[in-house]
Amino acid sequence: QSGFCSKTLTYHSLRPPSPLPPLSSPLSLTNFIFNILKSTTGTASFIDATTRRFISYSDVIKLVRNLCISFRHLSISNSDCAFIISPNSSYVPILYLSLFNIGAVVSPVNPASSVTEIMNVMRLCKPVIAFATKETVVKLVEAGFRNRIVVIDSDEFEVMIRGELIGDGDGDEVEVMQSDVAAILYSSGTTGKIKGVKLTHGNLIATIAGAMAGREARSSPAVYLCTVPYFHVYGFILCIRMLAFGDSFVSMGRFDMRSMLRSIEEFSVTHLPLAPPVVVALVNDSNEHLVNGTNWSSVEMVFSGGAPLTVAVIDKFKKRFPNVSLVQAYGLTETTGGISRIAGPYESTIVGTVGRLIAHCEAKIVDPNTGAGLPPMKRGELWVRGPFVMKGYVDDKEVIDTMVDSDGWLRTGDLCYFDNEGFLFVVDRLKELIKYKGYQVPPAELEHILQSHPDIVEAAVIPYPDEAAGEVPMGFVVRRKGSTINETQVKDYVAKQVAPYKRLRRVCFIESIPKNAPGKVLRKELIKM
Ligand code: AMP
Repeated sequence: QSGFCSKTLTYHSLRPPSPLPPLSSPLSLTNFIFNILKSTTGTASFIDATTRRFISYSDVIKLVRNLCISFRHLSISNSDCAFIISPNSSYVPILYLSLFNIGAVVSPVNPASSVTEIMNVMRLCKPVIAFATKETVVKLVEAGFRNRIVVIDSDEFEVMIRGELIGDGDGDEVEVMQSDVAAILYSSGTTGKIKGVKLTHGNLIATIAGAMAGREARSSPAVYLCTVPYFHVYGFILCIRMLAFGDSFVSMGRFDMRSMLRSIEEFSVTHLPLAPPVVVALVNDSNEHLVNGTNWSSVEMVFSGGAPLTVAVIDKFKKRFPNVSLVQAYGLTETTGGISRIAGPYESTIVGTVGRLIAHCEAKIVDPNTGAGLPPMKRGELWVRGPFVMKGYVDDKEVIDTMVDSDGWLRTGDLCYFDNEGFLFVVDRLKELIKYKGYQVPPAELEHILQSHPDIVEAAVIPYPDEAAGEVPMGFVVRRKGSTINETQVKDYVAKQVAPYKRLRRVCFIESIPKNAPGKVLRKELIKM
């Protein structure tokens, strides 16, 4: 019932295993998706909420082919990295699929990134080409990117995607192996510093196949409205897997509550994947009038993932939306997204769980002190294993060795337990990570910036609980003797160098940072303070 095996001290998935293509066979994620798409006869489409552009899924295959041929003219080849800095639009998943198809490596970043942050990630992924929008292209230029830049919302891209410049094209297929890297996404893992997570075509195929296996049957296609960003693993997987699911997919550029509510009505949205702070905002009393003024009758499911939701918010949600299922999922960038999710009406009644393990997922709950595997109802660090575990970090063999052991177990850095029915519960975070509105804020990055200030001797950054954002970054700062630097000056110093979501929201001046004997910062002490 719980999936726990007392002999091996591991948990296995209770979902039916979905067949996966043999790993040794060449197969790009694009071809995996298109093979499914070719056999479906739906009317689903990509819809852009901003431009109101509809692209039918049968046209997607044509547009991907056009882009692939255009890319050949741009001399992008196998394993070249393509950097993408764009808000959500229906062209972004098409761009991803085209790049996967020619064996290029897709590396999307948050369009709110600062120029310094862009330079840092470019150092990791070494792009040969970049795709930007009219708004974000300036940052690439400021970051000193000298290679080819293609602007997605330009006439040039329109010509490329419509195939107006190319003749019949040669249509040569590039052989892509499942072990080839398809994407580099960014995460700080368990140790605070930003890292490039290498995900292969096989990782992405396994995740999408796993999600398909746990999918409820429906009589008509669902309509998803996606406000979660496509550069983060949550939105990244969602926008690609839609084609395989045959559901319609509405892209929303920049999130704002009013536009989201308007789009729910306009497109008769059935499924709404959200970041936890948006779920919090939906149940917030100050939004009651706005939310109740919207026709929610088409909405069947709201998804939440990427950060925790409190039981209080879940309860409020159930009261305000009695006819909508609230479905939580849990995962990491390093596990190619969700490794557990809720499926079906019974599972939706279990409050506070992040669901059951997806197909092909094994897990252990490991006592952080003894390293022993623990049975149901006991808390420990969650370790997971399966075909979705990343290939590694860019240029960081040492870190990957500490995060993934020789048997393939990935340490999540999260304190969790399974109950007696195989439902997973996330209790706390053991690793150094702050999640502001679901976005990763690596404390080490902020500490590095703080310590570069001439008036700051030492600094440590920790998560501080916040109802709307989940957590906000708080800095403990030791000032140089005689310095009069104040809270606003410290905050401004950081704000100038980081994306808005990484700003320090609280500062506390202290005499010294508590550390253990080998000099490691005692974050738990600071959190207690
Ligand atoms: P990311 O790589 O940005 O997706 O961050 C992964 C981390 O987010 C996990 O290790 C958890 O700490 C946290 N996380 C993701 N989903 C959930 C969830 N449903 N509940 C609690 N924490 C979550």
